[in-house]
Amino acid sequence: MAITKYSRQRELIYQTVMENQVHPTAEFVYNYLKKDNPQLSLGTVYRNLQQLSENGIISRVSIPDQPDRFDGITTPHYHAVCTECGSITDVFMENMADIDGLVASKTGLDIVGHEIVFKIICPVCKNRDN
Ligand SMILES: [Zn+2]
Ligand SMILES: [Zn+2]
Repeated sequence: MAITKYSRQRELIYQTVMENQVHPTAEFVYNYLKKDNPQLSLGTVYRNLQQLSENGIISRVSIPDQPDRFDGITTPHYHAVCTECGSITDVFMENMADIDGLVASKTGLDIVGHEIVFKIICPVCKNRDN
């Protein structure tokens, strides 16, 4: 495959997601890269993040009331959002597949999956409040 300007940009965007474990938004990635890459546009960042997540190279994290975030970890895991500062923490535990069955048997609905976001006070905010 030829090295085009676009694949170089995609590589930069991918690296930024991998290096920033804060689950960056498209805007974070854009602001992180734009100083050294003045030709980069927010639209390009969005498009590349979209393509990377559609290809399963990164994953997209949907948090209610927040813009989509992107995650370099593609193995299944849950997320916890701090109600004070909005930071995202990874929660590694087995997929709670039994929840799907429980809801299916209670409602008769055809459950195909679930999204759960835990709400926390993160350690930084907890220490600040003490
Ligand atoms: Zn916090
Ligand atoms: Zn994550």
